[in-house]
Amino acid sequence: MSEYDLVCDVCAITVEPRDAVVTWVTDGSGEHDFTLAHIACAPPGATQRTEVKLLVAPNAYLAFVTERFGKANPGPEPLRTIVWALAPFVMRHDNAAEMDSIRAASFGAEPGVKPGLTAAAGAPAKRDEDGGK
Ligand SMILES: [Zn+2]
Repeated sequence: MSEYDLVCDVCAITVEPRDAVVTWVTDGSGEHDFTLAHIACAPPGATQRTEVKLLVAPNAYLAFVTERFGKANPGPEPLRTIVWALAPFVMRHDNAAEMDSIRAASFGAEPGVKPGLTAAAGAPAKRDEDGGK
């Protein structure tokens, strides 16, 4: 099993993101019983579900994680495990966002830093002797 394999919480067999769902129960005590499982293994009692093939997109992953903030969760450990398990798929080296970063770096730009500034302290970047471009 590679470090990037997902394992179904129900049958304990590896599962591809396209075949997996995250399910959980929302009720009066908050959100709980987070489960990552094959679509066919998904717990029947779950009230919420989201497909992992969608969750591994960076924006969808961040939306999923941040939507959990502020919600009561009497047993957060399964959710923590799922967030960690999915992260390598979101942050894959061939992830589109990562590719954009690599592309930006290849042009000498620093991803997330406005052109003309350096990452450190937002200071203006050094210009070439001729005044830059
Ligand atoms: Zn399963």
